[in-house]
Amino acid sequence: MRIFKFGGASVKDADGIKNVFSVLEKVGHEDTLLVISAMGKTTNALEVVIKNYFEKSNELHSSLQEVKKYHYQILMDLFEDEEHDVYFAVNSHFADLEYFIRSNKSPNYNFVYDQVVSYGEILSTTIVSYYFAQAGLKNNWIDVRNFIKTDNTYRDANVDWEKTQQLISKGIKKKSLNITQGFLGSDENNFTTTLGREGSDYTAAIFAYCLSAESVTIWKDVPGVLNADPRYFDNAVLLNQISYREAIELAFYGASVIHPKTLQPLQKKEIPLFVKSFVNPLLPGTSVSKGKDLEPQSPCFIVKKNQLLISLSSIDFSFIMEENISEIFALLHQYKIKVSLIQNSAISFSVCVEDKFGNFNELKSILAKKFKVAYNENVSLYTIRHFTKEAAEMVEKDKTVLLKQISRETMQVVTKE
Ligand code: ADP
Ligand code: ASP
Ligand code: MG
Repeated sequence: MRIFKFGGASVKDADGIKNVFSVLEKVGHEDTLLVISAMGKTTNALEVVIKNYFEKSNELHSSLQEVKKYHYQILMDLFEDEEHDVYFAVNSHFADLEYFIRSNKSPNYNFVYDQVVSYGEILSTTIVSYYFAQAGLKNNWIDVRNFIKTDNTYRDANVDWEKTQQLISKGIKKKSLNITQGFLGSDENNFTTTLGREGSDYTAAIFAYCLSAESVTIWKDVPGVLNADPRYFDNAVLLNQISYREAIELAFYGASVIHPKTLQPLQKKEIPLFVKSFVNPLLPGTSVSKGKDLEPQSPCFIVKKNQLLISLSSIDFSFIMEENISEIFALLHQYKIKVSLIQNSAISFSVCVEDKFGNFNELKSILAKKFKVAYNENVSLYTIRHFTKEAAEMVEKDKTVLLKQISRETMQVVTKE
């Protein structure tokens, strides 16, 4: 079986969905499972709905209308017959969402987030599935929440591999075309959970692992994995081959083209991951597999914007020792703040972090009881794997460098925006 993941960019409008259909016509669709994300920027739009639900109830209605308008426009572009069943299905998903918003009593932000944001993927897969059927391509729409079981860490759920494996082995029909949602799972009580932003790649890897799939293909608006994010660097080159190990490193440092959790399950079973262009589906793209570390061998640039550089020093000039460091890390873990760089000296300790869930203010007041806390907001972290002198110069040019760290393979620089 092959697993294909189509991200938000590939299904952002009616033409995108038609294009997905034509990709399948070109590369085949038998014995294939499609994992699909929410359309375009729907997840961001639903995040606004959730924020309004908690903080700005007077804007709740209009933010939800935006999401509806966007989906109904795509429906009208794809289905001429206004009596088509797809309208009934989509209406009923929106009715369920509105019912949840009306009747929910839980004050738990993360819980509400998952119950609401999940409609992005439910809607996109529903629309794609009906469109394929209309175009003559039979398919099974699968509710992924009946297959991927997780704990109840809402917004960042951990997969229960044993239960998930059992359900997938038993329930997924091979030989046909299956369509399911990325990013979602469900907990023990069958409430919806999510696997973290951009988590649909990970969903594809979970299915691949449990089905011992032949391969995973992530279809993108770029020709494959490039040696730099084309939004920030000119002249990025396509990487033809990357080893699992190198890809894990790149994803860890923030190469947003592959979600970091995606690679471990694939590597365990040596399932190849292809990253290909949905514009030119017959081109080879990038292969992440056993083999050469990096081909062509070249420096790889990764940028993470909107990072926080925190420096902690002891109030009384005492050393920052193991016990302080372990306490600091326990707190960072507890507040779900991800560390991407560490540097320490005798009396100070610096970390470059990403505060995805907006917890830093709370953490800051706790740290301030024990340490002097200094921080820079909105810094950028540049990582260069396999750096060269020229590569380093290019990154540092015209920037204020706040911190630099060099190891054998990797150079990291924190700069002001
Ligand atoms: P998806 O629709 O699958 O979620 P994303 O928009 O998240 O896709 O990711 C695709 C984008 O990732 C590309 O358009 C590109 O701008 C960006 N990107 C960042 N780093 C890289 C890289 N190293 N190689 C290719 N694309 C990259
Ligand atoms: N729709 C989700 C997000 O935008 C998951 C994904 O696209 O991978 O984060
Ligand atoms: Mg994405």
